[in-house]
Parts: sequence; structure tokens; C-alpha cells
Amino acid sequence: MSDSIATRLSDLPGTDVEPALVVNENTTQWHDFFDVVVVGLGAAGVSAAIEAADRGMKVAFVDRFTGGGTTARSGSVLYAGGGTSLQKKLGVEDDPDNMFRYLQHEVQDAVKPETLRKFYEDSPANFDWVTANGVRYSGKLFAKKTSYPVHGNSLYYSGNEIAQAASAKPAPRGHLADGIKRFTAFGPAFVGPLIKSALKKGVFAITQTKVRRLLVNDKGAVVGVEAQQIKANSWAGLQHLIWSTLANYMQIYYAPAAKGLRVKVEALERRHSRTVRYRAKGGVVLATGGFILNKDMTEKFLPKYRRAMRLGTTGDTGSGFALGVSAGGVAERLDIATAWRFINPPADFPRAALVNTKGERYINETLYGATIGTKMMEEHNGECILILDDALFKSAVANLNLDNARFVTWLQAKGALRMAKHANTLDELAARCKIDPVQLKKTIEEYNKAARGEITDLLGKKQEDMHELKQGPFHAINMSVGKGDITSVITLGGLRVCEQTGAVLNQDNKLIPGLFAAGRTAIGVASNAYVSGLSIADGVFSGRRAGRFAALRATVPEDSAHAHSSGTMAEARAAGCPVAH
Ligand SMILES: Cc1cc2nc3c(=O)[nH]c(=O)nc-3n(C[C@H](O)[C@H](O)[C@H](O)COP(=O)(O)OP(=O)(O)OC[C@H]3O[C@@H](n4cnc5c(N)ncnc54)[C@H](O)[C@@H]3O)c2cc1C
Repeated sequence: MSDSIATRLSDLPGTDVEPALVVNENTTQWHDFFDVVVVGLGAAGVSAAIEAADRGMKVAFVDRFTGGGTTARSGSVLYAGGGTSLQKKLGVEDDPDNMFRYLQHEVQDAVKPETLRKFYEDSPANFDWVTANGVRYSGKLFAKKTSYPVHGNSLYYSGNEIAQAASAKPAPRGHLADGIKRFTAFGPAFVGPLIKSALKKGVFAITQTKVRRLLVNDKGAVVGVEAQQIKANSWAGLQHLIWSTLANYMQIYYAPAAKGLRVKVEALERRHSRTVRYRAKGGVVLATGGFILNKDMTEKFLPKYRRAMRLGTTGDTGSGFALGVSAGGVAERLDIATAWRFINPPADFPRAALVNTKGERYINETLYGATIGTKMMEEHNGECILILDDALFKSAVANLNLDNARFVTWLQAKGALRMAKHANTLDELAARCKIDPVQLKKTIEEYNKAARGEITDLLGKKQEDMHELKQGPFHAINMSVGKGDITSVITLGGLRVCEQTGAVLNQDNKLIPGLFAAGRTAIGVASNAYVSGLSIADGVFSGRRAGRFAALRATVPEDSAHAHSSGTMAEARAAGCPVAH
């Protein structure tokens, strides 16, 4: 477990958050009153808002932009299993116990075992909840391993299920939402219907409004938020919308152009905003995403990932982390990130050997791209080179097509093949790639022995997944960070929360009354390692939890002895989260 934590606002530079302000909730001039105020409208925020609205609460979501967040730019993969209705429809056998046996390898100690149990036990119901709120899944099962299936498929192996020789029976759990016509897997196809459902249920949309401060009462309970709001239907509002939308696309497709656009967005916010205050009787739910676009924080906590592409949207500045800390919360696992380096498709690439510049293999090449990428960044200075023999290289060239790869992935793999270095012998190849030649030869000899079945691969790769690299010329594809294809990174740390309720905890592990966190702003099942779909699934799971308990707290009479603490004290205590007062 990482010990990288923040307990003071000054520990979290670049968030543009003010210290919490003590107010009298009865005399403060509020712009509006709500039972629950959700800050941030991605997967986690929309789940919290719907959940609270379903409990009859007056709910508002406050978003710095128009909602959707990074979820809207994502691949829409939702990690769900244990027998979801889609798995059943497509003839896939899975059960919660099987899902747990796999997930415990990925999640490890990020959450308590009982929380992980609840996550997998609730998974089929959470999937049904998502579909009941309008998300559609009508495609087929893609039964082979790939980083991302082609359009028309709604279910695939999105993690390490096939590669890992674990005690669990592999089951496909990556659920891809329907997009337009036969296109699947776009973020808006997931978060769009959920936002629509929230609005239909009466959730108030407060957009282009950036929360910069929490308001607390004299007992330390969070009672509302203060935000900077761009005037609705104004010229500044229109520019803010245009620049922020462009910045989000640019960050993913051409990051250097996004920076200037973000500067324009921030300038508009500074010059054309008014200050607003919203009362939250039950609670404030912080769901502002991660902090990958906060350069100060990433330099401080994630220096190893400096050369990777930051995968996120303009709101990923860690403001929710700072808001939580300003009220006494603790942000932790700040040095945990996931770097994605996909090497499949083409399906031939994982059959080759991936080495570092010392010529050593360090991972089972059939593992999921984020498992490969994170190890590469954490332990191998961001370097990896794929070694293929001639037969495998030719097969990769021949088999790469738009029937087995999406256009962008196809384009990237084509580029990787074009940039390959070639040599008649491994010695020559090592010299061309600046790899230790002696070690490379030794590594390939060992690899070939395992490929022939003479020994078991020490890295756990199955014999049927290995191609004997025997016939020159040999080929090397540099897959290091910054070379050819993209290595991208998102953050996984968050605020420490009571795992039963989603309430934010202080340094003594006591609940901060009226404050909840969810999604990438909170520690959750995705806070150790990422497989495709786990972040959004965690957003739904933790968002619903926070929304439910914030709503419950709103029902506690204001004059009750418990009003200033969680309305769910018994459950919180049962979960080992003593309340602060
Ligand atoms: C290209 C790409 C593909 C991905 N694919 C997948 C995938 O397929 N499956 C998966 O599980 N994960 C995927 N991820 C990761 C995943 O999208 C995110 O981790 C997840 O969506 C985060 O959800 P969230 O609800 O925590 O935050 P977000 O979706 O980022 O929402 C946070 C919201 O908070 C708002 N906000 C921020 N600060 C403030 C403030 N101070 N005041 C008011 N509002 C604020 C933002 O505007 C934003 O709308 C992908 C990420 C990227 C970039």
C-alpha cells in the first residue's frame, strides 16, 4: 500500500480551491436549497444524483462544464459480472464467487474484502440499474483477447482474465454501451442516457459552475458549497462551452493544442463569474474525477509518469481532493496511477517477447495493456521493445485489418510495424536497438525453450500463447513511452472514505459530517490497478453508495442530536468508521 498522502490544502498544489469557510447555515445567503448537492457529473456524480433523486430528495448537480466529464471521453467499458443479464443473454457462465477470485488479484488491499464482496455481489444489479436508466447493450460477445473489440460487440474480456493462470474461470466482463447505429463504446453512449434519466427524475442541472470552497458550520459539518458561476446564455458562457469542449477532444487527440485552450477557459472563469452558494442539507458528494491534468500534483506524486500522455479532461485537476482535504479529509494513494500500453491488436504481438534495454523480459506479454504499461513505467524507466522473428512479423502484417481492429488501433499498429527495426541476427538487432546483446540472446533462448514446452515460463505465459522466435531476420518494435504508439496515464488515488457509506474520513478515520466522495475522487476498487471498465464500474458502485447515504442523512431531523453527523451512524460504526461527534 502506498503511503503517499495529503492532509493539508498546501499538500495539493494547483487545485484552485479555497480553505473551507465556517458559516452559520441559518443566516447565510443561499442561492438555492437542496437535500443533496453532487459536485461533478461523470459516472460517479450521475449515479449519486439518480440514487438520491430516487429516494425523493431535491438534488442538484454542479459541474464546472456541462457534465459528462472524462466518462464522456472514455471507451464506455463497464466492468460487470457474476451473472449479469447481458452475460446470461450471450450464454456466458459467471458467478459472483468466480468474479471475486479474479478481482482480488487486481484490487488487492485498495478496499476491504467485504467492500470488494459487495462490489461483485451488487454487480449484476448495478448493471440492471444502468440499463433501467437508459443505457443499451445490444451487441454480441467478442470471445478472443483484444484491447478493444470492433463495433457490434457488447461483451468482451476487458482485463487479465484469459492470461492469468488464476484460480478463477475466465469470464468476459467488459460491457460496452451501444452507440449510434452499429457503433459501440463511446463515453456519451454510457453517461448520456444516465444524465437524461437524472434530469427526467427532477435533478437540477447547475452547469458552468466551478466549486471552489466548502462551507462548514461551527461543528465541522459540511453544509453547502461556494462556486464561481459563468452567466447563463452569455457570450462568455458560449466561449467557455466551445473552448472547453475543444480542449477535451484535443487532450485526447493532440494534447499540445489543449493547453492553450485550457488557459482561455480559466481566464473566462476568472473574468466572467459570479459567486454562488448552495445549501446541501443531507450532504455534498464530491465526484470531480482524478488529477491527471494538474501538472503540479503529477510532478509531485507521479514523476515516473512524466513522459506518458495525460488521459483526462479539463476538470481533472484534483479539486475534489482539495475540497475534501480542506474540510479535514485525507487524500491517499496519490502516487498510484495506471499507464496503458496496449500491444494487441495485432493478436500476433503478444506471442512475441517484450524486453527492456537490458535484454530482460519482465512481463507475460498476453496481460492487459494497463498491467504491461504500469510495470513498464514503474519498474523499467518506461522502456519496452518487442522482439519478433520473421514468421511472426509477417503474420502480424498479414493479419492486421479493420475486421479485428478499430480504426485508431489499426492505424497505431500499422505505424508500429512501419517503424520496426530489422536485422539478420539477434546480435545485430541488439546493437541497432541498444539492448545488451548477451542478455537478449539468453532471454530469447529461454523464451524458446518455454515456447517448445521444455520448461515452464517463469512469467506465467502459457505455451500456446508463445511463438518460438527462431527464424531471422529478426524485428524489433520500440514500444517505450513516447515512441510510436501512445502510453497514456490516469490517476487512481482519492479521498479516504468510509467504505460502508462513502462518507469522507478524517485523519482519525472519523466521518466528516455531510461530506461524501465517489468515483476517481475517492479510494475505491480501482485504486490499486485498472482493467478496462473498472473505473466506471467503481463510479456507479461508489456513486450510488454516496447518493444513498447523503439522501439518508437529509432525512435526519435538523434538531436531532445526530443531525450534525451521519444519518447512518449505526452502519458506519458497523463498518469501523466511528463518527466525528
Ligand atoms: C480516453 C479514455 C478512455 C477511457 N476508457 C474507460 C473505460 O472504457 N472504462 C473505464 O472504466 N474507464 C475508462 N477511462 C477512465 C474513466 O473514464 C474515468 O476514470 C472515469 O470516467 C472517472 O469518472 P468520475 O465520475 O470519477 O469523473 P469524471 O467523469 O471525470 O467526472 C468529473 C466531473 O467533475 C467536474 N468537475 C471537476 N472539478 C469540478 C469543480 N471544482 N466543480 C464542479 N465540477 C467539477 C468535471 O467537469 C467532470 O464533469 C477512460 C479514460 C479516458 C480518458
